[in-house]
Amino acid sequence: MAVYPIVETFYSIQGEGLYAGAGAYFVRLFGCPVKCPWCDTKNSWTGKPNLSLSSDEIANEASLSSCDFAVITGGEPTIHPLQELIDAFHERGIKVHIETSGYMPKNIEADWITLSPKLHSHTHESYLEAADELKFIVSSEDEISLYLEKFGGYLRGKKAVFITPEFSKSRDAELLNSICETVKLYGSPLRAGWQLHKC
Ligand code: SF4
Repeated sequence: MAVYPIVETFYSIQGEGLYAGAGAYFVRLFGCPVKCPWCDTKNSWTGKPNLSLSSDEIANEASLSSCDFAVITGGEPTIHPLQELIDAFHERGIKVHIETSGYMPKNIEADWITLSPKLHSHTHESYLEAADELKFIVSSEDEISLYLEKFGGYLRGKKAVFITPEFSKSRDAELLNSICETVKLYGSPLRAGWQLHKC
């Protein structure tokens, strides 16, 4: 049975994306080779994991909550063998959402995939095609254009594509205005992103 390096597990509400506001059991796995300079969860890839848990231990704990779905996040969760953990949740009737940067080729089947591709890192096409929703984290107006240039060919068929200011810019009026103007210009599936859990 696989054992996973854990930063934290907790039951809360999903703070972003199309499921924002819904109760979710979070599993934050340790480790990330992507190393975004603005990463707001650096504790997921610096230092050491806080504990190690098996797939059954994680899913058993989640099943004590009232969650309909679990969110497996990181770090970059797909560097770990995730299918066993996904299966353990499914055996208990819990759906699984994955949050990834698309760093690894897709080799899992989940119920929902949130892909946050990065400008500075390679994103596997398999995730760009399979993702249900995309999340572009932007630091400047220029980056909005760069994301649309690089990933614009993958927007069709997505349930939503969020343009979200990176955390330290979440009150930058100029950037927020640029995001809104871009959404107004392009329309669906673009949406202005927000992070309820950081409000
Ligand atoms: Fe942080 Fe996610 Fe970037 Fe990894 S991919 S450095 S966890 S923001």
